[in-house]
Amino acid sequence: MSSKYDVIVIGSGPSGYVAAIRCAQLGLKTACIEKWKDDKGKGVNGGTCLNVGCIPSKALLDSSHRYEDAHKGFKNHGITTEGLGIDVPSMLKRKDKIVKQMSGGITGLFQANKVTSLYGSGKLLANKKVEFVDNDGKTEVLEAENVILASGSVPVAIPVAPIDNDVIVDSTGALEFQEVPKRLGVIGAGVIGLELGSVWGRLGSDVVCLEAMDTFLSIMDQQIAKESKKIFVKQGLDIRLSCRVTGTEVVDNNGSKEVVVTYTDKDGNEATSTFDKLIVCVGRRPFTDSLLSDDSGVKMDERGSIYVNDLCSTSAPGVWAVGDVVRGPMLAHKGSEEGVMVAERIAGQKTVMNYDIVPNVIYTHPEVASVGKSEEQLKADGEDFEIGTFPFVAIGRAVASDSSEGMVKIIANAKTDRILGCHIVGPNAADLVQQIAIAMEFGATAEDVGMTVFGHPTYSEAVKEAALAVHGHAIHMPNRKKRK
Ligand code: FAD
Ligand code: AMP
Repeated sequence: MSSKYDVIVIGSGPSGYVAAIRCAQLGLKTACIEKWKDDKGKGVNGGTCLNVGCIPSKALLDSSHRYEDAHKGFKNHGITTEGLGIDVPSMLKRKDKIVKQMSGGITGLFQANKVTSLYGSGKLLANKKVEFVDNDGKTEVLEAENVILASGSVPVAIPVAPIDNDVIVDSTGALEFQEVPKRLGVIGAGVIGLELGSVWGRLGSDVVCLEAMDTFLSIMDQQIAKESKKIFVKQGLDIRLSCRVTGTEVVDNNGSKEVVVTYTDKDGNEATSTFDKLIVCVGRRPFTDSLLSDDSGVKMDERGSIYVNDLCSTSAPGVWAVGDVVRGPMLAHKGSEEGVMVAERIAGQKTVMNYDIVPNVIYTHPEVASVGKSEEQLKADGEDFEIGTFPFVAIGRAVASDSSEGMVKIIANAKTDRILGCHIVGPNAADLVQQIAIAMEFGATAEDVGMTVFGHPTYSEAVKEAALAVHGHAIHMPNRKKRK
């Protein structure tokens, strides 16, 4: 039996489901294949993001932040809390409910947009045919005018710390601890390691992050990275740079398991630390297992991603690939935008995606967020630029809300004044940076943002003031830079 579609999407994460919905909106007969199953074996949509990524991690970040705030922050407001406690299973139940609600939402959107949702696994064959094996094992060959590969990514495993899903876990296992580990090790102080380390640290774990690199958050603007590190260390995260893990051993200590981690420290000496749980967060890799037949015509790049051009076309005509499985940052919104671009291209539109303006956020508290280029990147490019910074401690709303740590940094071209980048550590940084993302999308200058009327009192005023500071015009702090 053979069914023909205009578009078949393989994978229903944020790249695939957005592509499928946009295709259907454009009048294309669309099917989306998804192999993810819930704990009862039922097919679910949403991919990593909804099931074990962005959404559940933010649910736990929110719960743990509320607990920590009640524990440490309420006192300052004259609010007393007696008998404060944390019921981890209830916290996990709330997270699971949110995941179910959000992934059910995608299934509802598929129905509303008339996307055919197929639960099972898909494999691309030659000539845009797709072998579909449903969750009962029944095989069917489907045909399409276009195929979009959106198979996502999985955590990188390292042989020195094999996941046993008990003591040593990856990011997925770290969303499921049934109690707060007393001593928690995290390998990799990247985005996911910092978020998950923060969750359990807020709930009472002693957290040690072992990071092989000698620079903290090397992809971020280093002024903001240094400021962030100071804040995280103050919060209790023990971040050890230049520490490469070389081995792990799970041992029995009076009937309870623990893991002894061996690493080379910053002086090159061998060191060991013992933890009750260890999270391995050393990055993610594109996932293409059983996705492509030998004659699919789809080529890979040297990093194991599916090779695509700027428009997300693969080397096989009519086959596209989007999201974590292709080059670029592994971010949900990057994949979603690629999905929209591909859907519109298939429908004959001339859509392009602006890869220069993709925000990047770490959902610690405070959040760290950036868009555009860092000071280091601009220096390496030989760009002539001006910088404006503004601390949240001079923002009334931030002080009133006990959220005055951090700063906004805006970088603009020295001649044209066009904004080239914005980097923030501070309250609501994820949402604040989006203001500059929009400004950059419209080619705004620092002066444009500085001249915009901002509501008072808001955290956003730090964005306006940083834009004013580019020209030495900030009002609520003395300007080091004296300009006309
Ligand atoms: P995925 O979400 O991985 O989805 C791919 C889907 O394809 C999966 O459901 C998979 O089952 C399916 N699939 C694969 N092969 C087949 C096949 N052969 N047949 C059928 N189905 C198949 N990003 C952010 O932007 N913000 C965040 O705050 C954030 N937080 C994160 C927190 C954690 C703990 C983790 C792990 C990740 C986080 N990410 C975050 C990253 C984000 O989850 C990914 O960038 C995003 O999910 C990628 O989307 P995708 O659609 O490309 O792939
Ligand atoms: P990210 O890519 O943001 O998820 O971060 C993963 C981090 O893990 C990177 O900063 C890597 O340097 C770090 N890392 C990778 N392997 C090791 C290792 N064996 N020991 C310690 N850190 C590691």
